[in-house]
Amino acid sequence: MFDKILIANRGEIALRVIRACREMGIQSVAVHSTADADAMHVRMADEAVCIGPNSSTDSYLNFPAIIAACEVTGAQAIHPGYGFLSENAAFVQIVEDHGLTFIGPSAEHIRQMGDKITAKETAQRLGIPIVPGSDGGVPDVAAAKKAAADMGYPVIIKATAGGGGRGMKVALNESELETSFRTARSEAKSNFGNDEVYMEKYLQKPRHIEVQVFGDGQGGGVHLGERDCSLQRRHQKVFEEAPGPSISAEERARIGGICANAIAEMGYKGAGTVEFLYEDGEFFFIEMNTRLQVEHPVTEAIFGQDLVREQILVASGQKLSFTQDELKVNGHAIEVRINAEKLPNFSPCPGRITQYHAPGGLGVRMDSALYDGYSIPPYYDSLIGKLIVHGRDRPEALARLQRALGELIVDGIETTVPLFNMLLQEKDVQTGDYNIHWLEKWLEANL
Ligand code: ADP
Repeated sequence: MFDKILIANRGEIALRVIRACREMGIQSVAVHSTADADAMHVRMADEAVCIGPNSSTDSYLNFPAIIAACEVTGAQAIHPGYGFLSENAAFVQIVEDHGLTFIGPSAEHIRQMGDKITAKETAQRLGIPIVPGSDGGVPDVAAAKKAAADMGYPVIIKATAGGGGRGMKVALNESELETSFRTARSEAKSNFGNDEVYMEKYLQKPRHIEVQVFGDGQGGGVHLGERDCSLQRRHQKVFEEAPGPSISAEERARIGGICANAIAEMGYKGAGTVEFLYEDGEFFFIEMNTRLQVEHPVTEAIFGQDLVREQILVASGQKLSFTQDELKVNGHAIEVRINAEKLPNFSPCPGRITQYHAPGGLGVRMDSALYDGYSIPPYYDSLIGKLIVHGRDRPEALARLQRALGELIVDGIETTVPLFNMLLQEKDVQTGDYNIHWLEKWLEANL
């Protein structure tokens, strides 16, 4: 086992990893930008190294500075968290070239799944059901029209190198196709430096269901059920739950089994998420994320497992600490993402926290790097906390969420908390009757 791990991230996820390290008796090294000198992860880690100025390009994405920080502190492994370098195959290669361990899958698996066309081809080959779409990349408008006519409108045009819900365009009919296609291409070029796009059938009312998988890199693989992350704004998740309210135990075992077999066959190492759209009882693969997800705590809650600890175990060469048979769903968990954003436009709202009080009590977990007097810098993501509740069933989890939101105090800035208070009053949220378009429609009508 490692003696010391460097965490190449900030905010709540850096704390999350430090906590796992501490419970395992592993020393932790925080890295930070100059803007984050007073951040909680810097205070909480055993050691901290400044790796550059405010901009993430010069700090949290700065390969040489991060590798140097490992060498200076003697850290043997790097946990990337999510975002930043977590799915950067070039970085993984460099980490390994320096004799260090990347806590995550191989560079090859990250590359394979990071290119969405290759990912879909791989998924299909491994027996995972995929969303109908173009055969690989679509080079021009004529090819786009042909592909759309074959699969039928509406269609969605997506960047091969895409991520974070950006660079997707829908065309409802042929007259919209040309403009959507050209816009998608130019946005793909400017956002991801690669203008290749592909097309899929645009599903009208699916749910977003994702399966948590874990591989030991030695041919072993398990699944930890699904999460329903259908409540999205601009293709970004805001409210996540496990298990999915629309998924039966039989469906869980079936789709979970398919995913677990696929990653075992790949020889995949570590945590991964296989994302699907789910409509009329059918699953359609859209992508695989090769990292720990923001919403992993809901899975931890219902399975009683520490996924970060498991990532570290597997990265150090050990086998998974649980078998599929030992993994049993217990109750229901919900996570809400609390962002420093001002409603109704969700405009970023960084600033100084004058008072912070985290909710507590049975079944409540608050993952946040906030503290009284902390100043949220304007340079990074607006996620400032995740409130996770766990109950014996969905109604209990909902009641607990409402109670916990009432205890939470974040003064000095605006947050998305009022949104969740409003959503909890909605019948569709109470019954779990929503799809990926529900929230956008609701926001339009209510905010
Ligand atoms: P990203 O990597 O940018 O997050 P995804 O491929 O995971 O992109 O898609 C993100 C979201 O976009 C999905 O959760 C869903 O809301 C929507 N989406 C993607 N593909 C389709 C599709 N074929 N039909 C309808 N909605 C889609």
